[in-house]
Amino acid sequence: MALMTLLPPPQGASVLFLALVCAIGPGCSGDTEDSSLEDVRPAALMLRALGDTPGQPAATDQPGVESPDWLAAALTHPTPSDAPAPYTLLLESSRDRRPAVRLPRGSRAVLTTSDGQPLKADAAWVAFDACLVSAEPGATEDLWVNGLGQVVTGRWRTIIQQVSQGHGAIEFERRTDGPANSALLVSTPRLLDMETEHPTVILITSDTHRADHVSTINPGSPVSTPHIDKLGSEGAVFTNCFSSINNTNPSHVTLLTGVHPRDTKIINNHTRLHVSAETLAEQFREAGYQTHAALSAFHLFDDVSGLGQGFDRMSAPLRGAVDGRGTLARAGEWIDEAKGAPLFLWVHLFDAHTPYKLPDEQMQELLDGRPDPYRDDVDLGLAPRPLPSWLAKSELRDPEFVTALYAGEVRYLDGLLGDFLARRGVDSASIAFTADHGEALGERGIWWDHFGLVDPTIHVPLVLRGPGVEPGSRSAAPVRQMDVGRTLLNMSGLNDAPFPGRDVREALSDEPAPEPRFALSAQGISASVELEGWLLELYLHDVSGSDSSPDRRLGEVTLFNLATDPRCANDQLLDEFPRAQRMRSALIQWLEAARSTGMTYENQEVNPAVQAKLAELGYTGGLESIYRWWTPERRDAGWLENPWHLAFEGAGTPALLR
Ligand SMILES: [Zn+2]
Repeated sequence: MALMTLLPPPQGASVLFLALVCAIGPGCSGDTEDSSLEDVRPAALMLRALGDTPGQPAATDQPGVESPDWLAAALTHPTPSDAPAPYTLLLESSRDRRPAVRLPRGSRAVLTTSDGQPLKADAAWVAFDACLVSAEPGATEDLWVNGLGQVVTGRWRTIIQQVSQGHGAIEFERRTDGPANSALLVSTPRLLDMETEHPTVILITSDTHRADHVSTINPGSPVSTPHIDKLGSEGAVFTNCFSSINNTNPSHVTLLTGVHPRDTKIINNHTRLHVSAETLAEQFREAGYQTHAALSAFHLFDDVSGLGQGFDRMSAPLRGAVDGRGTLARAGEWIDEAKGAPLFLWVHLFDAHTPYKLPDEQMQELLDGRPDPYRDDVDLGLAPRPLPSWLAKSELRDPEFVTALYAGEVRYLDGLLGDFLARRGVDSASIAFTADHGEALGERGIWWDHFGLVDPTIHVPLVLRGPGVEPGSRSAAPVRQMDVGRTLLNMSGLNDAPFPGRDVREALSDEPAPEPRFALSAQGISASVELEGWLLELYLHDVSGSDSSPDRRLGEVTLFNLATDPRCANDQLLDEFPRAQRMRSALIQWLEAARSTGMTYENQEVNPAVQAKLAELGYTGGLESIYRWWTPERRDAGWLENPWHLAFEGAGTPALLR
């Protein structure tokens, strides 16, 4: 089947007229004048029940109307009969209601537009997603769409139909027995054409994946990643990519909005992105792509992250996190189902995140030929005592083995990616592979955690394949993970889509002038700046040490030369004090230039249920925000009398700081 792609919808008031059933429709207009697909734009749709009780209005016949109770109940937790139990589906978000209609047994419904304007083209291919939500979980029933049976119970399915001008109809019929009532939900339709090719676009984020654990980036990597490397050989490898923050939701929010966490004001895993934000998924959907997200951790789902906006579908576990195998299987199904129609897919893998729980087979392979890592008399070396609680629970005692487990997780997910990348439809897709942040494996006293802003926690992999990327190209120029969204849009020919950032492909041809790369850490505990291979971190709060990190003091500064010391072992602050002074001033200036973007909700309460589920994933500390935004008012007495501050202002003795 030829690739079907979309004509960019023009701005304007013209309307897609999907269904015309003369008996009930608003009129079988035969208007074919000025036929042109360019005049067509999907608009608000109405799904109207034809009703088995004449004269009885359908329970729900307008998009966006409040659902009756039975419908709401059905929508809350549909149990997909053929999906792994912990998954849920994004059926609607607060501002993105799908047309829904009550569809009793044996009844029919048609799709029509709100204003009944005809489609100004002879015929068009239309794709939309439909989902039949049964009030009885587990029931399977067929929905007939224009006479063809489709299995859509409990999960979204893409349906592609050719619609003829003036005669076409998309008619839904629920023929088979089942519960008395079901709800039929339909996504906003997309117009397709057969002329232009728009490849599938896939954004893969591997959570907690340090750059030096990709062998094409670091030849000395403790783990070989042949499949990520192969993707790199088919495209470009960026060996010097930094994320903007060191925790999951804030980093993904920045990736999917192109706005730095300093300005999104989202610096923890429970602050929801405001619905007014413009997201990458919305840009792709606006251009007619289907937009799906297959996620491996519950807290990236829309209800916690707000990242559902723009996505037609989103799957995530209801709690905790899952193995990437299921996530990639789901993503693969969606790619098959799209049948080459424009698709933007975000795939999130959580395998490299603690508790590094490998499947039995891979665990056994890793254990073979090693001393027993569970024995009690193991030398902990420099590892923290007591061991972090998640580790104590696992009864592992050997820190070297725990670090090997991290590498084992990377090997495992690389293997999963190998199968996924070889799939039909993925093999030809535009792909960006990156991470939200890295992981420290003992560096700076931080153990198996991504606390702090050092190379291991913010240096992430970036591999790109697709248009404008010469196979086998490499760049060691500094680039930012937050620019990946802009790059994917440009690679898809959507250069005009309003979305911030710069195209990282520029780094493949030009040697960019050195520019500072700034980062914030989770909860705003510290901030950092990287410039010309030097990384400076400034602590904005006192932090008492934990099992995974030592104490930090307000005002404390460290400086590392990443070219010679990528693991940040030798603090060069005293040797390079003038450099540190310049970088620290630039960092404070940057902090004080924070913008108000309205991307969070005012006074957002932390949902206790979300908090409990985050704790299950090991996010036990810092849920109550200790952060105060850095503003000029921050220069209070505590700051002005801070010994570190005084030293940098020339009133103290830097040598005494250590
Ligand atoms: Zn993460």
